Amino acid sequence: MFALGLIHLESAGIESRYALVSAQFETLLNAAVDAIILIDSSAKICIFNPSAQRLLGYSEAEVVGKNVSMIMPTQERKHHDGYIQAYLDGGQPKIIGIGRVVKAQKKNGDLVSVELTVGDVKSNQGHYFVGILRDVTVRLATEKEVQQQREALAYASRISVMGEMAAGIAHEMNQPLSAILNYSKAATNLLSNDLKSTEEKLTTASNILTKIAEQAYRGGQIIQGFRNFVKHKEVEKVGISLQDLLYGALELVALDSRWIDVVFEMQGRECLDEMVQVDIIQIQQVLVNLLRNALDAMQSVSEKKVALSVAIEDDCFVSIKVSDSGQGVDLSIRDQLFEPFKTTKDSGMGMGLAICSSIIRSHGGSMMVVESELGGAGFLFTMPRYIDETV
Ligand code: ADP
Repeated sequence: MFALGLIHLESAGIESRYALVSAQFETLLNAAVDAIILIDSSAKICIFNPSAQRLLGYSEAEVVGKNVSMIMPTQERKHHDGYIQAYLDGGQPKIIGIGRVVKAQKKNGDLVSVELTVGDVKSNQGHYFVGILRDVTVRLATEKEVQQQREALAYASRISVMGEMAAGIAHEMNQPLSAILNYSKAATNLLSNDLKSTEEKLTTASNILTKIAEQAYRGGQIIQGFRNFVKHKEVEKVGISLQDLLYGALELVALDSRWIDVVFEMQGRECLDEMVQVDIIQIQQVLVNLLRNALDAMQSVSEKKVALSVAIEDDCFVSIKVSDSGQGVDLSIRDQLFEPFKTTKDSGMGMGLAICSSIIRSHGGSMMVVESELGGAGFLFTMPRYIDETV
């Protein structure tokens, strides 16, 4: 066992790492898969191990004694010495002991994503910092690919839900269209009515036109709600109140005619002003899925009840629970509910809950099956609360 030691440090004018480390430690530096860079308190590079040389394309001779900012993207270079000085003056560490993914600049100017962890080394000879850099290019590319596939799957699932709801949409659109038709007929009759004065006709026609405009607006809103739902866009996590988030989803599912004999209850209304930080369409997709599953599960029961409960879990998360009075979760798939292709429905795909839980995970939350006070199934998921970074 040996610790990082600054041994044989003879003078401030360090020639190479050989002056700084023991033979054992040098073996470790040479064998390390990660890039290891040691700098002094004025940010001058003292050690630049072989992995660092391979990663960044510099030889040791090219970097030792130079400011470490040379391997940082140009726009960040000027801040770095200030960070070190502020830390040495007793300030809060920006990265020491924390670690994060940053960009490093290679000798040829290319940028590479690295996970950087920094430790400080206090010795009799002075204050040093050791940085360990791990190339995460492949990991980030894989994560991005997984995220893109997740989004594509969620999108495909929304399109499929939309297809199933087409009849409801047509029915809903029919209402404002019929109203517009009736108002138009009334206006035509009014204009051909010789018994009414011109002034009376103008006032009534103006009222009718206002009503026509209201109905057309309502129709436009229905279409817009659905167009947003099936829009293929980049995931964007924004602040939204639970009120707006939940009611947006409820409007979408309300078109299903099976709601007619269902008693719906909203619990935890006092939390509805709470803001969350989410991709609105994706979370509405989760809610639409859970509510439609609840409707499916209640087809064979006489007393149909659904409750949506909202609660603040802690400083970071809120929870939403969808409970129903349906037949409950089939024991045969209870432990595999969130796995793809697990379904008990003749026409089911078994993808809904898998997509929902992956959406919730990508928001940092979790989804689980819980007891339902209404006797059927309960699904609970958590979402991050909104943090206003401007305060
Ligand atoms: P699908 O609806 O296509 O079957 P899901 O992934 O949404 O796919 O659901 C998987 C299975 O989970 C369903 O087939 C059903 O057996 C069960 N399930 C989901 N929601 C409920 C619920 N509210 N009550 C009872 N069972 C449910």
